[in-house]
Formats: sequence, structure tokens, C-alpha cells
Amino acid sequence: MILDGKQVAADRLEILKAEIRSSGLFPQLATVLMGDNPASRLYVKLKHEACGRVGIGSAGKVLPAGATTAEVVQAVEELNRDTAIDGILVQLPLPPQVATPLVLEAVDPGKDVDGFHPCNLGRLLAGSPLFVPATPRGILSLLGHYHIPVAGRHAVVVGRSVEVGRPLAALLTTADATVTLCHSKTRDLSAITRQAEILVSAVGRPRTITAPMVRKGAVVVDVGTNYVDGKLCGDVDYAGVSAVASAITPVPGGVGPMTIVSLLENTLRAARMRRCTPV
Ligand code: NAP
Repeated sequence: MILDGKQVAADRLEILKAEIRSSGLFPQLATVLMGDNPASRLYVKLKHEACGRVGIGSAGKVLPAGATTAEVVQAVEELNRDTAIDGILVQLPLPPQVATPLVLEAVDPGKDVDGFHPCNLGRLLAGSPLFVPATPRGILSLLGHYHIPVAGRHAVVVGRSVEVGRPLAALLTTADATVTLCHSKTRDLSAITRQAEILVSAVGRPRTITAPMVRKGAVVVDVGTNYVDGKLCGDVDYAGVSAVASAITPVPGGVGPMTIVSLLENTLRAARMRRCTPV
């Protein structure tokens, strides 16, 4: 079974559009983009376009590639103070001279629709999240859409980034999976991935997961976005692994669209919270 994130996200966007219309709110998302990384530019553009489709206003601050941490923090603080803005998204990665943790901590936790502020990550760990980071949230939504059970199953997440792997491990744990979190220092990765009933790869390296690493009948979620010869591909060897897995996300058209719709769902949530209407 192909887990069609593109279609599920399109359906969720329609639902969100109707919710926004009936809420009487006009949520506003602000993005902060730094430099001229083509992938970052593309992601921000896609997010703005998706906002337009559902009735969310969007604005963007663009900073030069050489901006300092203080300058990025200042841009974020201006958006914190702007009462018209409900959600703030800082497009990652930031250039190496910028202290990313300081920038993420500068975002008002009530506007932190990416859920990367330590307060929001802490709430996620505590099991009472305010904003669940968009990619993990999108993955859980996708599994839920296809009625894929999580409780009691062994989920293996490869990649422990603060943006994807760690919050996903927390969410899966809250959903009663037994979770193993792997990373670059994990020994004998295939021995662990072969145990997975749900296998998620969030590494950013093509062919990280090949068929012999996958248990027969596993559900495989590919978060990776890599370019090989100018073509987008995931971390998973799709052709080989889809012959072994019971369900798999394609790249493109899997996790990516679910990430965007989850971000917009978080933005409506932020707008509702800021206006004290039920979330
Ligand atoms: P990241 O911050 O670079 O983290 C990569 C993780 O993979 C790290 O934890 C690293 O381990 C681990 N890793 C690297 N090589 C490994 C190996 N050989 N075996 C096992 N683990 C290994 O990346 P990220 O931000 O989480 O993103 C991961 C990928 O997902 C990227 O391709 C990114 O573009 C993509 N992504 C897609 C979406 C989407 O919506 N589709 C959203 C976010 C990210 P260490 O911690 O030990 O270094």
C-alpha cells in the first residue's frame, strides 16, 4: 500500500479551509528565510502558497546569508511583537555563523507553530503538547488516516534531530509504541531496523534503508529529501523496499505535503489560542 501523503494532505487542506472559513479568523503566518539556499526558498514558497489556498495570510522576512545571530533574533522579536502575526516559522537550516538554538528560543512559544522552542519540545515530552512539530505530526496523521496501528508496535526511528527524530520518538511513545531511536553512532543498524514494525528514516542520505534492512510487512516512512542527479528522492530504496514492506511513503508525495498541512493546522491553532477561541 502506498501511503499517499499528497492526497491525504490535499483532503486535510480542504477540511482546514472550511474550518478557517467557519472560524471567522484570518490567521497570519510569518516566515523568516535567510540566504539564498534554493531548497529553503522552495520550501518557504510552498508554505506561502499553501497558506493562500486555505485562507491563511502569510508574510516573509528575508535576511541576507551573512546576517548575524543578533540580526535574526531581532527579526524574530519584531514578529513576536506584531499583534497581527499568529505563527512564526524560521526556515532551517540557518547558516553556520548563526546560533540556531538562540534563534529558536527567541520565538514566542505561543507563536511557535514549528514547535521547536524548548518549552514546546518539553511540553511534547511531558505529553501535553501545545504545538507538535509539523513533520512528526504529519507522519502520525498519515498513519492515522490509513488506520495503521501504532500502540504496542515496535517503531524504529533512524535520525535523532530536534526537528524530526526526537519529537517523532516522543509522539510515538505517547501513542504507546515501543520506540528505538537510531543515529550515526548506532551499531549494526540493520539488526535494529529489521525488528521494526514501523520504520521511519529521517537521515538525509539516499539508500540509507535498503530491502535487506526491512522486516517483511513493515510500514516504512521515508522523511528524507535528497537530490540525486537533480531528481528528488528519499532515504529509502523505494523499488527494493516496497517489495518487502506492507505500506510505504513515496518521495515526493509522502511526508512532505503532510508537513505543510500540519504547519497550517498549527497556525490555525495558534490563532485560536491567541484569540481565546476553542482550539
Ligand atoms: P539532520 O538534522 O541532519 O539529522 C540527521 C540524522 O541522521 C542525525 O541524527 C544523524 O545522526 C543521523 N544519521 C546520519 N547518518 C546516519 C547513518 N549512516 N545511520 C544512521 N543515522 C544517521 O536532518 P533532519 O533535519 O532530521 O532531516 C533529515 C532528512 O529529512 C533530510 O533529508 C531533510 O531534508 C528531510 N526532511 C524532510 C521533511 C519533509 O517534510 N519531508 C521535513 C524535515 C526534514 P547524528 O545525530 O549522530 O549525527
